[in-house]
Amino acid sequence: MKVFKFGGASVKNAEGVKNLLHVLNKTGKSNLLIVVSAMGKTTNALEEVVDAYLKKAAYREKLNQIKKVHLEIIDELFLEESAAVSEKVETFFSSLNNFLEHNKSPRYDFVYDQIVSYGELLSTTIVSGFLEKNVLPNTWLDVRELLKTDATYRDAQVNWEETQEKIRKKIDRKHLNITQGFIGSDPNNFTTTLGREGSDYTAAIFAYCLNAESVSIWKDVPGVLNGDPRVFPDTQLLEQISYEEAIELAFYGASVIHPKTLQPLQRKEIPLYVKSFVNPDSQGTAVSKGRHLVPQVPCFIVKKNQVLISLSSLDFSFMVEENISEIFRLFHLYQMKVDLIQNSAISFSVCVDNKFNNLEKLIQHLKARFKVTFTPGVSLYTIRHFDENAIKLLEKNKEVLLKQLTHNTVQMVTRECD
Ligand code: ADP
Ligand code: ASP
Ligand code: MG
Repeated sequence: MKVFKFGGASVKNAEGVKNLLHVLNKTGKSNLLIVVSAMGKTTNALEEVVDAYLKKAAYREKLNQIKKVHLEIIDELFLEESAAVSEKVETFFSSLNNFLEHNKSPRYDFVYDQIVSYGELLSTTIVSGFLEKNVLPNTWLDVRELLKTDATYRDAQVNWEETQEKIRKKIDRKHLNITQGFIGSDPNNFTTTLGREGSDYTAAIFAYCLNAESVSIWKDVPGVLNGDPRVFPDTQLLEQISYEEAIELAFYGASVIHPKTLQPLQRKEIPLYVKSFVNPDSQGTAVSKGRHLVPQVPCFIVKKNQVLISLSSLDFSFMVEENISEIFRLFHLYQMKVDLIQNSAISFSVCVDNKFNNLEKLIQHLKARFKVTFTPGVSLYTIRHFDENAIKLLEKNKEVLLKQLTHNTVQMVTRECD
């Protein structure tokens, strides 16, 4: 059995859904599970609904706009036969409205997951109906009945044992199956999400549980390149990457693959293909056991909008075990994702990702024990397999605030100069 994942960009409009059918017609339609993300920027739009709803501001207009976009896509795909799919979509909007009207919880993360998850329920319903209409009978699966997690909303952790059992019992491997990326459910059957961009990870979870032959993720790029083409000029396609190297690249922030995707695949040596949905015949990138990096070129990664925090003690103590463990306790408490650490006897600098918007609370808390300075809006650049030229290229027109070199990786925290 194979697993395919189609991300938001691949199904951003009716044209995209038609192209998905074209990809399946070219590459195979049975013994397949397809994982699909929300269409285009639907998740961002639903995040706006969550924010407005919790601030008791007007959210109806935003929700109507999301509905309008989906119904227009349905009209274009199904023409006069759109009634059945439109009805299903209407039912999802009714149950979402029902939640919005009756919910009593003020907890952001919980409310977020109950709302934002509709993006994937809508997209898979449309894709499934469209394939059916085009003589590709398929089984639509509600992933919340298969993928079980804990109740850490917005960052749910998978219960592997339960998930494996449910997936093995409920999936007919000979069939064409379609399900949602990104979402799951907790022990009380409330919806959870795996973290933004988590659909790649969903594909890997299914592949692991099904002992799949391979996973293909279909993207708007030719494969994994040696840098994000939106940021770096003259990028090159990486043809083959080992699991270890791909884990490093994703972990440092190469956002073309969600960082949690690779370890389950590596465990069972299931190859991951990153391919272009525009050119399904082209070779793309293989992440598999084997050669480390082909071709062997420097790889550039950037994480924008990070925060550089520098700390020193208020009481002349050194920045050693006790202070550092307190600092990390607070990072964990405020869900800060630590990207880079550098310390000396009297200072401790760290670059963090303020993913959960807790920076202000963290800084207040840190100030009780440390002298604190912080710089938001910095970029963290990483070059794997760097050479002098690559470093020079990167440092151009930037103020380097911190730099760290290890044997094959250089990292720099920078501020752009005008
Ligand atoms: P999806 O549609 O599956 O959500 P993403 O938008 O998450 O796809 O991933 C594809 C995007 O990742 C590309 O459009 C590209 O801008 C970005 N990207 C970042 N790093 C890389 C890289 N090293 N190689 C290719 N694409 C990259
Ligand atoms: N729809 C979700 C997001 O935009 C998950 C994903 O696309 O992978 O983050
Ligand atoms: Mg994505």
